[in-house]
Amino acid sequence: MSAEVETREFQAETRKMLDIVINSLYTERDIFVRELVSNAADALEKFRYQSIAEKPAFDEHVPLEIVIDCDDKNHTLTITDTGIGMSKAELETNLGTIAHSGSGNFVEQLAEAAKKDLSLIGQFGVGFYSVFMAAKKVRVQSRPASGEEGHEWSSDGAGTYTIGPCPGLHRGTRIIIELKEDAQEYASKFTIERIIQQYSTFIPFPVKVEGKTV
Ligand code: ADP
Ligand code: MG
Repeated sequence: MSAEVETREFQAETRKMLDIVINSLYTERDIFVRELVSNAADALEKFRYQSIAEKPAFDEHVPLEIVIDCDDKNHTLTITDTGIGMSKAELETNLGTIAHSGSGNFVEQLAEAAKKDLSLIGQFGVGFYSVFMAAKKVRVQSRPASGEEGHEWSSDGAGTYTIGPCPGLHRGTRIIIELKEDAQEYASKFTIERIIQQYSTFIPFPVKVEGKTV
């Protein structure tokens, strides 16, 4: 399998963005949980929409939900959804580049805001990359609703990512976060429940933390 794992560089804008997010968004760290839960909800919504509109999908009867597991022994946080998932190409485009139109501008504005008032940054849609505030390493395993084989995207946020095959997945996306030494509170279910109650109460799908619906 290792022979098929490829290493790629992030787009320059993505690198800049990662740098800002990692170094200046510190006081707003909790928002990464909100961003990942909101992405999971979007993916579930897309799947629901597609399965009404189109032909039967892969893993059709897997329940639509978000499952969060906290492992405070191994210092990991795992967020799994049974949404639309991503193909290999989608993993690369969606997680390796910044899709905003005029992304250069966007990153400049973000940098300006970071200089002035850190709390402003949380209002920018920093999205997925916010995970690197708390993560030493992130693995994103995903299998699209088409049933095409799954892939694993992985990065430490430092400039490159790897991508390779990941057989045997269900439909959807699993994000495995290895927490930094100073971010280990995110492996506690109490922390995660608090953040979800604070930011993610209107998610229209079940959110289960350690098996219990929040
Ligand atoms: P946004 O949500 O504003 O588009 P993000 O940075 O949060 O920006 O996410 C980038 C893209 O990555 C999303 O638009 C989506 O296409 C993809 N993505 C992220 N998380 C998931 C997920 N859990 N399932 C499917 N696609 C995802
Ligand atoms: Mg998002």
